[in-house]
Amino acid sequence: MTLFEKIIAREIPADIVYEDDRVLAFKDINPQAPVHVLVIPKQSIPRIAEAADHDQDLLGHLLLKARDVAGKLDLKENGFRLVINNGPDGGESVPHLHCHILGGRALNWPPG
Ligand code: 5GP
Repeated sequence: MTLFEKIIAREIPADIVYEDDRVLAFKDINPQAPVHVLVIPKQSIPRIAEAADHDQDLLGHLLLKARDVAGKLDLKENGFRLVINNGPDGGESVPHLHCHILGGRALNWPPG
């Protein structure tokens, strides 16, 4: 069981900001910006490179809920960034697909 599956199962506590039958959003434990939330599918897809074509609806739902959570956290006006890290070069550290929502300050580009 991955760390994020344990959060979904409430075996590990998390500061949850949104939940429905398909996705869970919670605050990152090591925030890189004033607002740093992770949105994850409840279905265990290890990373975006491993998503299947039939995951299309779920992935669309994930993205739209990231939009909603960003709005709920007052990021719409100033903007925010969505990030999906994939594999070693992408900086992925938890093998359960997750979309970072980062906001509350101006973010640099390109990333390091
Ligand atoms: P990745 O590096 O895989 O893109 O992102 C994983 C994220 O999960 C990191 O930003 C890290 O801070 C966060 N994280 C790791 N362990 C925990 C945890 O136990 N609880 C929460 N809420 N976030 C975690």
